[in-house]
Amino acid sequence: MKVQPQSRAPLAPGSTIGILGGGQLGRMLALAAARLGFRSHIYSDESESCAFSVAAERTRAAFGDRQALEKFARACDAVTFEFENVPDDSVRELVQHVFVAPGPECLRIAQDRLTEKNFVTALGIPTTPFRNVADAAGAKAAFAELGGRAILKTRRLGYDGKGQRIVTSAGEAALAFAELGGVPSILEGFVDFVFEASVVAARSGDGSFAAYDMARNEHEQHILRRSTVPAGLPQSSAREAVSMARRIAENMDYVGVLGVEMFVTRDGKLLVNEIAPRVHNSGHWTLDACEVSQFEQHVRAVAGWPLGRPERHSDAVMENLIGAEIETWRELAGSAGLHIYGKRAVRPGRKMGHITRISRLTPAAE
Ligand code: AMP
Repeated sequence: MKVQPQSRAPLAPGSTIGILGGGQLGRMLALAAARLGFRSHIYSDESESCAFSVAAERTRAAFGDRQALEKFARACDAVTFEFENVPDDSVRELVQHVFVAPGPECLRIAQDRLTEKNFVTALGIPTTPFRNVADAAGAKAAFAELGGRAILKTRRLGYDGKGQRIVTSAGEAALAFAELGGVPSILEGFVDFVFEASVVAARSGDGSFAAYDMARNEHEQHILRRSTVPAGLPQSSAREAVSMARRIAENMDYVGVLGVEMFVTRDGKLLVNEIAPRVHNSGHWTLDACEVSQFEQHVRAVAGWPLGRPERHSDAVMENLIGAEIETWRELAGSAGLHIYGKRAVRPGRKMGHITRISRLTPAAE
């Protein structure tokens, strides 16, 4: 199933990179693209997209609007995503007209938790225990098999804990299935992990691969609060994690940056939780602690340029500024590593910016 990466001529400065999605990830991609002399064309269905204000071109249209997609594709030299929930049909429409990275198959796998978990498992990579849930009876049966404590997750369109319920009985599993809308779901065994970590890595069309050091991630109310690098994992585990991410990327014939979220269990095992087929919040620290950030790295891969070195020059702690926390900007204004996304409306849980504090490099733990 592995397809040989195609060799493409590198895009020349002045070329236009199309980005589907207009949030902060698109904004930081557009800024990185601009630094290398590229123009960005943001496609978003929201009028208040914070990426619009830093892009050369904008399209505001629904992700399913075939006419708008075709026009967008024709105006771009390559297209990428900052948002993975673009409908399948739309991606297939795009690839008729323009080079798209990561490709439609990567999106298809990562958009659906069941397909994703089956894909990862087939590579011999451990994941959280899971069962397919198609109906309420299936939810009960899945709970009976997994037992204890479990999480019901919709197969599609979940993020930041949305579309998830913790359940502790078969009855609760059936109820949660109904509450989540009766849509195709999976039930996952609850993992009593020590901490969460992620690998952010890039793969280019010629097959080269570059991983950043792992981040240790802390969540609050399902939203990433803080990423710390180094993550404090033994080097052997970190190497194993990077090897898992590499196998995932290679077997998807992935082009671009991807994030692989993992749980680190009490006995030191790594379980893959999720693949993000895009730049990732837990890689924002690379803007301030690496020569080449995840955003520039992604642009390089999409443009067919050589990848940059992923080494970091500093330790880093990245904190998200969530909701009203952005109102502390006056206190933060004197600090380096401050990134404000320019979103007008402040809403609880909305990522408004982040700050990365760097410090002298300490060697990774043995
Ligand atoms: P997800 O949307 O799958 O990334 O889940 C959001 C967050 O919920 C994760 O970052 C974990 O903190 C928690 N979580 C998800 N799945 C599990 C699980 N199987 N066991 C324990 N915690 C989980």
